[in-house]
Amino acid sequence: MQIQPDDIVFVLNPNSGNALHPRTLTAMCHAACNEAGHRAHVVATRNPLEAAETARAAHESGAAAIFGCGGDGTLSALLQGLPVGSQTALGAVPLGTANVWAYETNLPTTPFAAVSAQLAALDGISGEVAWVDTGRVWSTNPDGSIGQQRFLLMASWGLDAAAVSGIVGSDRRSRMKRMLGEPAYFLSAVQEAIGRQAWPIAISVDGGEPFQVDAAMLTVGNTRMLGTWLEVNPKANVVDGELDMLLVEGAPWKALALSPLARYGWLPQGPGVRNLRFQHLEIAMLGNPMPTQVDGDPGPPTAYAVDVEPQALLALCPVPTSEVLGG
Ligand SMILES: [Mg+2]
Repeated sequence: MQIQPDDIVFVLNPNSGNALHPRTLTAMCHAACNEAGHRAHVVATRNPLEAAETARAAHESGAAAIFGCGGDGTLSALLQGLPVGSQTALGAVPLGTANVWAYETNLPTTPFAAVSAQLAALDGISGEVAWVDTGRVWSTNPDGSIGQQRFLLMASWGLDAAAVSGIVGSDRRSRMKRMLGEPAYFLSAVQEAIGRQAWPIAISVDGGEPFQVDAAMLTVGNTRMLGTWLEVNPKANVVDGELDMLLVEGAPWKALALSPLARYGWLPQGPGVRNLRFQHLEIAMLGNPMPTQVDGDPGPPTAYAVDVEPQALLALCPVPTSEVLGG
């Protein structure tokens, strides 16, 4: 079956271990679309590249929306296939570990209700379809060419990226993630912080004079939260055409020690902890390169710049008053 104009495309990974069986999920997608008078087109993809190709095909076919059935990594994979300014809107069927985008935009937590609410936004019944900002990370590929990756939520350098890589690179920690969910990232961060030194870097914000810091962590947020636990960029929203950065200086354990405060949005501003807002950021590694993560998956090790892409993505927003949507 070919994707037709105005179709609603759903991308699911049959091997993801989601709580819903692929057959149940497929039936649910069709049922929600039938109820709203749309035609569902469900595509099984096995990896992020296939998901991105499906998003590109959906865009080229004029699909009204594409939903990622999974976590934030699935949404990120779809984003890579959508060009800036695509008329195909992005939707989420929250089935991942953290579902940060769904959390930030106040989507209903059950899959059927989440799809129905987003279709109601698409149809202008309640909520809205909003142009939201995205970010783009620039890096150098091993062959010297320029690499790039878009993000919806966040890119970061340092301790939390080391925690993400620690989970991806270790069977034991991956099992811990499946068993514990989000707390596994905190435990991984504890293990990564032990004995680690700060990373010396130089940063330039919006073309300004570079400044040097010994950093524990640097998060660049389109949205506010690191996972659904830590409010690292409390003033970030996805409609202001800027990205928000949290820079924590010092040894990585310092960032860890601050996490209980970030849990409640109480991060102090002052020496060693800074929130900045920018459109363009450049980072130079002056010592060991910092690990990176983009939307919850390990990022390119040679990432050197970040740009905001203002109003680059159509998002289905049943609750436009959500803080992250500027409401
Ligand atoms: Mg912003």
